[in-house]
Amino acid sequence: MNESIVQSDPDCLFCKIVAGKIPSKVVYQDDESFVFNDINPWAPVHFLMIPKMHIPSMAQLGSEHAALFGRMMLLAPQLALQEGCNPYPAGGFRILINTGAEGRQDVQHLHIHVIGGPRPWLKG
Ligand code: AMP
Ligand code: ZN
Repeated sequence: MNESIVQSDPDCLFCKIVAGKIPSKVVYQDDESFVFNDINPWAPVHFLMIPKMHIPSMAQLGSEHAALFGRMMLLAPQLALQEGCNPYPAGGFRILINTGAEGRQDVQHLHIHVIGGPRPWLKG
């Protein structure tokens, strides 16, 4: 087991959001994942999908997380449509997973950005 993976990190912003200690606009949750709107959206639709478990980044993913990560990726297109992205191919969405300092990751809890909706966007 990777030592940097714990159930929850009391100092982590996104763990606090999962625990309800910091408010968020919840899009979806189940026993293993939590989805909420980004506080600083780039586009009409911009939400973050995170595992409830504190995994710092994609760099810590192991084969034991393959099913969890797969389920989250499969959820993304469903939630994108639910939140207002237009259907493929005219619509669609962008997925971004910033990893590490050079990958411009600011919050050290693995998160999948799902960004979409009618253009223009602020960024991306
Ligand atoms: P990254 O740069 O990939 O680590 O992205 C972190 C994202 O978290 C940014 O897009 C922020 O706007 C977003 N963010 C930071 N604090 C909050 C918060 N309290 N609620 C929702 N999103 C947040
Ligand atoms: Zn965390």
